[in-house]
Amino acid sequence: MAISLTQNALTSNTIEAVNNPDLPLHQGKTIQQEIIQAIPDLVWLKDSHGRYIFCNQSFAEFFGVSAQQVIGERDGNFLPSQLAKTFHRHDQEVISSGNASTQEQPILLPYNTQQSYLEITRVPMCSPQGGLRGVLGIGHNITSRKALEIRQQDSAERFSLAMRGANDGLWDWNLETNEVYYSPRWKNMLGYGPNELGNDFDTWANLVNPEDKAIALAKVQDYILGRETTFEVEMRMRHRNGHDVFVLSRAFLVHRQSDQKPIRLVGTHVDITDRKESEIFNNKNAEILKMIATGKSASSIYDEIALMYEARNPGMRCSMLELNNGHLLHGGAPSLPKVYCQAVHGLKYGPEVGSCGTSTYTGKRVLVENIETDPKWADIKHIALPHGMRCCWSEPIKNSSGEVLGAFGMYYDYPALPNENELNDLISAARLAGIVMERDQAQRQIHELAYTDTLTKLASRAYFYQVLEETVAAQKSCSLLYLDLDDFKCINDSLGHDAGDLLLQEVAKRLEGVACHNNFVARLSGDEFCLLVKESGDRLTAEKLAHYCLTAIAQPVKLDGRTVIPACSIGIAHYPSDAKDPVTLLKAADTSLYAAKEKGKNQYAFYQPEFTQQAEYRFQVEQCLRGAVEQEELSLVYQPQVHLETGKIIGVEALARWSHPQLGEVSPGEFIAIAEKIGMIKPLTEWVLKTACNQMVSWMQMGFPSLNVAVNISAQHFLDDDFVDLVQHILEKTGMPACHLELEVTESVVQTDIRNLKVFQDLKDLGVLIAIDDFGTGYSSFASLKHITVDYLKLDKYFIDDMITDPKSRTLVVSMVEMGHNLGQGIIAEGVETVAQYDMLRRIGCEMAQGYLFSKPIDANGISKLMRRNLDRGKHMWSEQLVA
Ligand code: C2E
Ligand code: CA
Ligand code: CA
Repeated sequence: MAISLTQNALTSNTIEAVNNPDLPLHQGKTIQQEIIQAIPDLVWLKDSHGRYIFCNQSFAEFFGVSAQQVIGERDGNFLPSQLAKTFHRHDQEVISSGNASTQEQPILLPYNTQQSYLEITRVPMCSPQGGLRGVLGIGHNITSRKALEIRQQDSAERFSLAMRGANDGLWDWNLETNEVYYSPRWKNMLGYGPNELGNDFDTWANLVNPEDKAIALAKVQDYILGRETTFEVEMRMRHRNGHDVFVLSRAFLVHRQSDQKPIRLVGTHVDITDRKESEIFNNKNAEILKMIATGKSASSIYDEIALMYEARNPGMRCSMLELNNGHLLHGGAPSLPKVYCQAVHGLKYGPEVGSCGTSTYTGKRVLVENIETDPKWADIKHIALPHGMRCCWSEPIKNSSGEVLGAFGMYYDYPALPNENELNDLISAARLAGIVMERDQAQRQIHELAYTDTLTKLASRAYFYQVLEETVAAQKSCSLLYLDLDDFKCINDSLGHDAGDLLLQEVAKRLEGVACHNNFVARLSGDEFCLLVKESGDRLTAEKLAHYCLTAIAQPVKLDGRTVIPACSIGIAHYPSDAKDPVTLLKAADTSLYAAKEKGKNQYAFYQPEFTQQAEYRFQVEQCLRGAVEQEELSLVYQPQVHLETGKIIGVEALARWSHPQLGEVSPGEFIAIAEKIGMIKPLTEWVLKTACNQMVSWMQMGFPSLNVAVNISAQHFLDDDFVDLVQHILEKTGMPACHLELEVTESVVQTDIRNLKVFQDLKDLGVLIAIDDFGTGYSSFASLKHITVDYLKLDKYFIDDMITDPKSRTLVVSMVEMGHNLGQGIIAEGVETVAQYDMLRRIGCEMAQGYLFSKPIDANGISKLMRRNLDRGKHMWSEQLVA
């Protein structure tokens, strides 16, 4: 304010001077007039009738009028009527009392939305004679001061109201003396009486949690120095009873008016323990959910859940029990004594088995107020009472489909029933534990699926690799026994897959019986097993173990009503001497296995470096075989089948030959097995069938009498869905008469299996002939021969070889011939090499034979020549051979 005119400063004499016409003029006005015009206060003069004699510029501006509109007028002519009345009343009071007066006058003008305030001083003006001349008015604009006052008043009111309402503690820190006033509520919040604790800074400093103290003081500093506009801090204060009270402290600074220096910090304390605890609980809850989501172990999560509810309910102890086949298993109970957990572990659930045993049994909540007296605890209270447990509330833990997985138990050391909060906690705890248990069970199932072989319950291939890698990574020496059943395919094909599965299960059991704790048994695939001898790479241990395996597996086993004697071959490799990493170790054992098979099966073989070269050769064979058909590297040779009585060639067996530019001649025994393994057998058989049929047709066109042409068909291909169609297609394309095509299949396909029967029937419908190859060596059931029509039985060379020297073999051959004849089948003896065999076969009534005695397999031209001679000379063509 530039000039302050108070009542004292503006005496009636001064006013007299204003109107003194004798004073010097300045631009037509007296100096006083100029001053009065310039001051920001409103100045006006009214006569005794209330008419304006004078008003200054500030007056005119304030009321939004010009001096001309005011002079000579009364208030009512330019002011709102209410205001005019008030002005008039105050003027009258001054006139009647003869004393000056001052009022605060709120003024709301029609064109102004905000209320203004004037502090108006009215002074009665008297003439020198003493008569009343009028009223001098001076108005000082106090609008902004007033607003501040109102604000201050409001906030002070709000402050005290809030304090009362929120039950807050008050503190008032004198920054100059360091004295602090703590209100009774402030002290009471921490468990102290109104007259306890000192009035100094240390009282707070000693009670605040040391971890929070520095933060709080830093915030005070920031606020006092103006770096922050407000002060608010959360801190932990120690209650007299020892526990923490969470406090929200807020404050404002009080400045000294004269120099604006901060002199006091006045603040409140609000007890936010409840909010804070539920915040902590919620955070913990979120943390637990995160643990669930990130796949932390169930037992660690169970502990966290228990601790979370225990923190919320002081004195409470929690436990989680998992139900397993009707037994309670301890899942997590970090605060219960170990002895108690062990005593409860494995308890069978039932209608009266404590709280948890009962609730898992009934699927319902069980609240036991007093363990000592409750009948449900009668049998097991002696386990709980010594550890102070007095009450136990249990909620069944269920999975999402409502199945009971376990129970959540809450214990206190005194008899009690849960209050509302505790009951809610019990329910939510069980729900949370349910999520974990369900996830855990699903995980265990997944793990089991991935890590155990479902058929044998042995470790799976995946698990085996993991263990092998771990063993090698630990730099431990080890031996690997790679086992493969001998002729398992034959059992599978002839006795059916169910029998095959049974055998695998039996073998798994036997291997487990052989393996001791340091060995790890796994089923890798099909009939392949592995035995890992951990921490021992010595030859002797492995050899002994291999021996045990051979013996154990060779015990007879009953399959599908038949006794079978299984056998296996074993390849052995050592880490680190044979291989430096798991993959090579496995390869080394595998190639050794191959060597064991090559050597005649039912034995073991230790790894030798040259095996690797052999394996590489096999790999090469595999690669080359893929192109063999397309590169026209295959050819056929034919071996005649001779009628023993007439000496006539009645058929030929087509046998495949493969000549590779680099590998040379590869024997069919080798490449047929590989073709089956790598899926090449279909195109190969197709080629053989086509070539053999074409050859037969061209022989017929050359005028030779029609012969049977026999083609070997792999069991795998024979049972293929498209096989019959393929045969039909080739017969049509080549013009080969179906009745002269003979398909040789091994016994393994002769079963009562519906699928196999259908193939036989379809082929018979086509009119082709079927021969059982290598008869007597497989597992074909005689019963199945009843259901299928077979044209020929080919007696395996194995029986023919021994027939002369071994009466048993002879008996078998006789029986087979007789049986075949009775079933209407022709008999072809294979591998006939000697005249003695020939003679005996003739005597026992076998009608056909094939073997080196007559001819080795030869090419088509050779067969043409042979047949011509046969036509010319009949049985005499063989006479050189048959003359012993
Ligand atoms: P297999 O069907 O039992 O064929 C008879 C085998 O015995 C032939 O061997 C033949 O050369 C041989 N052999 C015949 N008579 C005598 C004899 O008096 N003494 C001796 N020591 N051996 C004799 P090969 O040609 O090496 O064929 C071996 C096996 O390869 C065949 O046995 C057959 O199972 C398979 N095979 C050959 N060609 C094919 C084919 O095109 N397809 C299929 N799936 N398998 C074939
Ligand atoms: Ca054959
Ligand atoms: Ca054969």
